[in-house]
Amino acid sequence: MPDSVNTDVQSRSATRYRFREYHVATVTDPLALPGHEAVCVTGEEHNCGAESGTLHTPDELTRWIAEHCARTGHQHYEQTVRTLLRTEPGAWQ
Ligand SMILES: [Zn+2]
Repeated sequence: MPDSVNTDVQSRSATRYRFREYHVATVTDPLALPGHEAVCVTGEEHNCGAESGTLHTPDELTRWIAEHCARTGHQHYEQTVRTLLRTEPGAWQ
C-alpha cells in the first residue's frame, strides 16, 4: 500500500522539527550525591576566598568551616548546595 508508506515517511520527517517537552524531575538515584561547597567570604577589601571544594555531606562542610574558622577566625561563608536533576521525556507536542 504505497499511500500508507508515504504518510508514514511524511509524519516521521515532520516529527524531527517538533520540540519535545521535558518535565524536570529530581534524581532519586542514591548514587547521585549532592555537592556541598563553601567559600569563605570574610574580608573587608576582598574576600578570603578559601574554598572547601566539593563535599558530599553537610557535616563535612560544617567540619571544614569549623577548621577554617578555628585557624583564621573568619566567620562569613557562602554556601552552595548542588543537586542533580534529570529530565524526563514528556509527550510530543
Ligand atoms: Zn577565610
